[in-house]
Amino acid sequence: MEIRIALAGNPNCGKTTLFNVLTGSTQFVGNWPGVTVEKKEGYLKNTNSGNASDKIILTDLPGIYSMSPYTLEEVVARKYLVGERPDAILDIVDGTNIERNLYLTTQLTELGIPVVIAVNMMDLVEKNGDKIDIQGLSKALGCPVVTISALKGTGINEAADAAIAAAKRAAEPDGKMIPHHAFSGAVEHALAHIEEACLHNMPQEQQRWYAIKIFERDEKVLAELKLPEATMTHIEADIKAAERECDDDAEAIITNERYNYIAHALSGCYTKKSLGALSASAKIDRIVTGKYTALPIFALIMFAVYTISIGTIGGWTVEFMNETVFGAWIIPAVTRFLTESGCAAWLISLVSDGVLAGVGSVLGFVPQMFILFFLLSILEDIGYMARVAFIMDKVFRKFGLSGKSFIPMLIATGCGVPGIMASRTIEQERDRRMTVMTTGFIPCGAKMPMVGMIASALFGGSALIAVSAYFVGVAAVIVSGLILKKTRLFAGDPSPFVMELPAYHAPTPKNIMRGTWERGFSFVKRAGTVILLASVIIWILNSLSFENGFHYIAEGDTSRSILMVVGGVIAVLFIPLGFGSWQTAVAALLGLLAKEQIVSVLGSLASMANSAVSDSDSFALIGTEIFGGSAIAGYSFMIFNLLCAPCIAAMSAIRREMNSGRWTAFALAYMCIFAYAVSLMIYQFGSFFSGNGSVPGVIAAACILALMIYLLVRKGYKPNKASAKV
Ligand code: GDP
Ligand code: MG
Repeated sequence: MEIRIALAGNPNCGKTTLFNVLTGSTQFVGNWPGVTVEKKEGYLKNTNSGNASDKIILTDLPGIYSMSPYTLEEVVARKYLVGERPDAILDIVDGTNIERNLYLTTQLTELGIPVVIAVNMMDLVEKNGDKIDIQGLSKALGCPVVTISALKGTGINEAADAAIAAAKRAAEPDGKMIPHHAFSGAVEHALAHIEEACLHNMPQEQQRWYAIKIFERDEKVLAELKLPEATMTHIEADIKAAERECDDDAEAIITNERYNYIAHALSGCYTKKSLGALSASAKIDRIVTGKYTALPIFALIMFAVYTISIGTIGGWTVEFMNETVFGAWIIPAVTRFLTESGCAAWLISLVSDGVLAGVGSVLGFVPQMFILFFLLSILEDIGYMARVAFIMDKVFRKFGLSGKSFIPMLIATGCGVPGIMASRTIEQERDRRMTVMTTGFIPCGAKMPMVGMIASALFGGSALIAVSAYFVGVAAVIVSGLILKKTRLFAGDPSPFVMELPAYHAPTPKNIMRGTWERGFSFVKRAGTVILLASVIIWILNSLSFENGFHYIAEGDTSRSILMVVGGVIAVLFIPLGFGSWQTAVAALLGLLAKEQIVSVLGSLASMANSAVSDSDSFALIGTEIFGGSAIAGYSFMIFNLLCAPCIAAMSAIRREMNSGRWTAFALAYMCIFAYAVSLMIYQFGSFFSGNGSVPGVIAAACILALMIYLLVRKGYKPNKASAKV
């Protein structure tokens, strides 16, 4: 027998943690809401109940606060629960926040699907000294209740077994008894009328749920059911009657009654330890999210993270990997081996200048990336990142965005693709689009090698370059927010941001290892696939020439390679930005395949350009050969590649989330133009103030600056109330 069990619950209540232990899979667990935005399925690993032939499929749904679809993830969850009807719902309830979590429970029990409540975070509940009477709660709510700690793994098999048992009981002929609570007389009266009037228009086993939704005038449900005009008038009269009696609007009546019901159910079987003393988390939060301390602490922590991972320890590992492991050991050894075995010169060049220089320059960053991801995973796991979203909400709100937009950006520090997907938590379409458009500005893991490369090649390895990259990314988001919010397309107030701040907890090695490994390993994998392939192609294009007939460019030959010719054409575009060489043009172009590619292209092109210098000094070589030693040009190059269109994987994520070719094109064009404008200003003003700028250049930069300031401060489009609704 195949049994499908859905894990449902509020965001951040521990669904994914439970899903991972029960199925043995490694889905991403994050200590903030909005991590799981799509449903994931897996098979239950081991259970005591049922026969071995039972196939138990678990579905990890995105966290939702209610069954009213305000956000895309709520739509995903609701569609699954209502449309595909699992055999049982395992409702995960955060025991430290039980009232709020039970709100969803009251809706789940209306679906006509057996519900088992698993009160999670029992370790914290016990530590706080709160008391929950399980039997009492079960009786009050009318469904089985179990207690678990997904993190510690206690009670989880019992929870799964209870859900399986409930599914089996419901499958029996007389097992259809589904408990639900009753609303007040007037509402129940209206609901009975609605059920009767729409009997033939809605699925039979979900009548109650549909009736309540119709009562609430849920637009999506009404659109789905397409009730006849006469029925609608009839129903509307019933709803109006109930509204008059309760003196409130229909949706609010239902909400209030749900909360009253929860309060009633909890009275007598739940006691929260007095809140006299602040909990440890609250004490920490007083400082960490304090009015004056929040932002400095955030800046300090980010600075520390980047100093450790890019500057000091991370920097040493890159140096060691590049200069010693690749520069002094692998490349010379391989070259010697190939020479001694009598390989052709072109083959030796392909292997050492193409593959090893290209792949090696990316692999050299692997330890550094692992350190960065390790530190970010710790911040995330202990619960700090959730605070950051909260802190940034206050900042972002001033710029017309909400903290909800910051969560995708936090995720994007690892990789832009999940970051862009995390925008699904945002209710308003326009804010969601804007977040999708701007999330790519944040330096992702794949862009960090480039940042590190520029820092070592031209800035003596300063960690400030990485920190500045991060803040330029955030500033780009804010400036874009301000500019875009003034246009007709995006005008309107940001959506409200409600978030439960999870309690701080000591980092769990397993979560941190998983977070680090998942992000870090994808980096290694790309080095072995996309980067390897691209390195070979670049080597080929740079070793062949059409000049004086199609031929391989041997040592001493001065004909221009295919790559040089193509790069030279594109490079013209970048002259105003200070990096108009064919190599940088090729690097920027190939960066669209994968951003790591930028380092690898420049690494191998620099080493092909000047084989006289030993490879061990590859960064210095990039600085001199490619940027002519100009720090401003290098910085401008870095910023351009940071802000321009993201890699192809992220572009297709944008396409998926925008679900429109025109919006995707608009987003990419916006990013490229913005990047171009910023880099141009950096280079032209930078050269001017360091004494060797050009007058037309500075005038152009000043014009762009003036235009940007105008776009920032002009009086924007104000939607009137009527048009704001749509
Ligand atoms: P989801 O959003 O519901 O999928 O929640 P996650 O599974 O991503 O977990 C959110 C956070 O709660 C993570 O930091 C988990 O480590 C933490 N967590 C989950 N279960 C427990 C638990 O039983 N006890 C404690 N203390 N923390 C938990
Ligand atoms: Mg999750």
